[in-house]
Amino acid sequence: MTEPDSEGTTRPTIAKLADGSSTDTFVTVTKPHEPRPVCAWCRRPLARTATTGRPKLYCGQPCRQRAYESRRHAGTLGIDPENVLLRKEELERLHDRLYELEAALEDVAMDLQDDHSPKAVKEALDHLCGVASRLSAFVLEPITN
Ligand SMILES: [Zn+2]
Repeated sequence: MTEPDSEGTTRPTIAKLADGSSTDTFVTVTKPHEPRPVCAWCRRPLARTATTGRPKLYCGQPCRQRAYESRRHAGTLGIDPENVLLRKEELERLHDRLYELEAALEDVAMDLQDDHSPKAVKEALDHLCGVASRLSAFVLEPITN
């Protein structure tokens, strides 16, 4: 929980419960972070390197190659190179994973509604991490040929 101070910046505050008592067990501090450059193909953060010259656009040669193939394929089909073609089943796989995450978030909210025991929190976190890790490993590959 945060409240803006006189300078307009937000600082963490202690949550007040409905009965007026405070809970100082959990304080969340979210630091604003500067935008990091990301790979123009896979969108993963680019490693910071002290180089001179043009900034890197891609994390590596495979992404540079896929981007090239995608632009070339778009040119062949006469579509805007900023658009990509996806197989329908690829998009469906992504939607399935997102639905799985949505369901896991609902499960966790339900499971922790009345039980905040360390065991319940650990089980909820394990469940959420399992689903989230499957989503984080998901790779969406546009058609490039
Ligand atoms: Zn990349």
